[in-house]
Formats: sequence, C-alpha cells, structure tokens
Amino acid sequence: MTSNKAYILLGTNLGNREENLEKAIEKISRFCIRIIVRSSVFETAPWGFESDNLFLNQVIWIETQLNAYELLDKLIKTEKQLGRKRIGTGYHSRTIDLDILYFNDEIIQSESLTIPHPRLHTRSFTMVPMAEIAPNFIHPGLQCSQKEILDKLVDKNEVVLHISSE
Ligand code: ADP
Ligand code: MG
Repeated sequence: MTSNKAYILLGTNLGNREENLEKAIEKISRFCIRIIVRSSVFETAPWGFESDNLFLNQVIWIETQLNAYELLDKLIKTEKQLGRKRIGTGYHSRTIDLDILYFNDEIIQSESLTIPHPRLHTRSFTMVPMAEIAPNFIHPGLQCSQKEILDKLVDKNEVVLHISSE
C-alpha cells in the first residue's frame, strides 16, 4: 500500500491556543497513519491584519493514505469541529487554521488546492518551524531547501519559541 507524506501548518490566535493545537493534532492523528514529527510551537504577530491576539504556529509531518484532496477535506472538517468560523475573505482571527504546506514532492494547482502552499516561502512563521524539522527538504517548485529559503527570507517578523519540542 502506498502512503503519502505531508507537512501541515497549524495556526491559532483565539481561545486556549495550546489546547487548540493539541486538539487539532489529536483529531489529525485519527485520520492519518501517524504523526511522524512535530515542530516546536512558536508565537508570532498576526500577518496581514491587526489584532491584539498573537498566533501560535506549529508544523507537523504526517504519513497518510489519503490523497491531497481527501486530506484537505478532512482538515477543513477538523477546523469546523474546533469551532472555526469563516468570516468573509482575507485574514482574521481564528481558533484553528490548518494548511497543507507540502504533499510528497507534488505540485498541485487547482481551484481548491495549491501545493506547495503559495505563501509559505515568504513567511517566517512557516519557515522557522519547517526549517527546524526538515532543513534539507527541497521545495519542489523553487528547488531550494527549507534552510536556504529561511536564510534568504526578507520577512523579519519575530518568531518566538513558545514550547520547545525537545
Ligand atoms: P488562509 O489559510 O489562506 O488564511 P483559509 O484557511 O480560509 O485561508 O483557506 C481558504 C481555502 O484555501 C481553503 O478552503 C482551501 O480550498 C484553499 N487552499 C488552497 N490551497 C491550500 C492549501 N495548500 N492548504 C489549505 N487550504 C488551501
Ligand atoms: Mg487555511
């Protein structure tokens, strides 16, 4: 049986943020084969909108038998179960945001899904946890490692270690 490997970014800035991450990971572990690695948890300022609530971000690497669309569907259901409300378009506070960063080394561009995630390589809150757990993983579009992308990043927003994975 073939299995797929995906990196998922978790983000939360509403309610009990540590609990939101734990609950999301617990739900994700039920529909994947296993969670291979979890990054440390980092705290970051909101990106693209004003809010007093700082975000917690974490990346997990999972193994799954789902394809990318099935995985997206499960992640959107998980966001809903954890009480996420979609308020129009654009960026806003949320109990949980679950984005697929990478799916194997596939490149997917469709209406509902873009992989690798189109903005991941411009954001320090994504690249810091990615480079922590997979420094040598190559971005299949840019053909650069996570560490190289992080080193060249112009986004200098602070990403503060909140809970170490060690
Ligand atoms: P954002 O994460 O950009 O703040 P949302 O979480 O509201 O926005 O996601 C909106 C839509 O983005 C999802 O319903 C999904 O169809 C689409 N989408 C496209 N590519 C991805 C991806 N790689 N991971 C997660 N969602 C994605
Ligand atoms: Mg999202």
